[in-house]
Amino acid sequence: MSDCIFCQIALGKVPSEIAYEDDEIIAFKDIQPLAPVHLVIIPKIHLRSLNDVTSDNEGLIGHLFGIIRRLAEEFGVAESGYRVVTNTGTDGGQVIGHLHFHLLGGKALNANIG
Ligand code: 5GP
Ligand code: ZN
Repeated sequence: MSDCIFCQIALGKVPSEIAYEDDEIIAFKDIQPLAPVHLVIIPKIHLRSLNDVTSDNEGLIGHLFGIIRRLAEEFGVAESGYRVVTNTGTDGGQVIGHLHFHLLGGKALNANIG
């Protein structure tokens, strides 16, 4: 989708600090980091949110979580701990309408997630 910033990042048309990339997934540093480690991990296909995920995407989502786990290791937060968040819809605080997962770590995160 040409008007979707994350599709543009996935296509390499908008620059980002890429942490990982393969045919299905790209992970990049958040432009406004909320923690010392703040990566955004997305499927390259345009799914609007978790609400768009179906059983057809099970392999993709499983793969994506495997990569998140690997990135937590690579960025040195696997042992200290981290949080994975996907904001969904208006009440969930989703701003960008392309399914994405935040990987946050490198400090003690606010315990209040609600
Ligand atoms: P949301 O609130 O939708 O869950 O989070 C969207 C995230 O994307 C925000 O943390 C925001 O800082 C990040 N973001 C928005 N636009 C860009 C961009 O152009 N490049 C990068 N690297 N991150 C972005
Ligand atoms: Zn998109």
